[in-house]
Amino acid sequence: MPEIKCTVTECDYNKSVECHAPMIQVNRNNTSAANNSDQTKCETFKPKQ
Ligand code: SF4
Repeated sequence: MPEIKCTVTECDYNKSVECHAPMIQVNRNNTSAANNSDQTKCETFKPKQ
């Protein structure tokens, strides 16, 4: 797993602005072909309990 910097600190997998999930899944975000990063999303996001 490469180091993944992520500023979504409200995610349960986020520690010190890094992702600590064993793997992440990234999907297109409401489009059939992404043209920029805004059209992608992290599906692994889990809210902190
Ligand atoms: S699972 Fe996704 S949103 Fe959560 S810390 Fe990792 S990259 Fe960020």
